[in-house]
Amino acid sequence: MPEYEDLVARALSAQERARSFTVDAARVSSLARILREARTGGTMLVHCAWCGRLQVGRGWLRLDAIGSGQTRIAKQLVRRSTHGICPDCFERVNRDAEANRAEGG
Ligand SMILES: [Zn+2]
Repeated sequence: MPEYEDLVARALSAQERARSFTVDAARVSSLARILREARTGGTMLVHCAWCGRLQVGRGWLRLDAIGSGQTRIAKQLVRRSTHGICPDCFERVNRDAEANRAEGG
């Protein structure tokens, strides 16, 4: 029955969204801890020079995904953090470089 399938599909996508919120919440709380440590000089933050995301544990978090109160703190920390490159940008930059090499001959 199509209506039933639609309902299941919607339930599944809602579950998927909820899961990604949980992951984000976990990242935000671990970011909060990292920010506290960084402010006291205990941790050196790394941010991606290409997309600007901050490294949080093994993940990379966009500043605008953080609550507004912490975005201000995070922005101050980005200025003091080390430039790095996240895996996504690394892959893209590598691909672009290879495309350029192929074009240039
Ligand atoms: Zn990046």
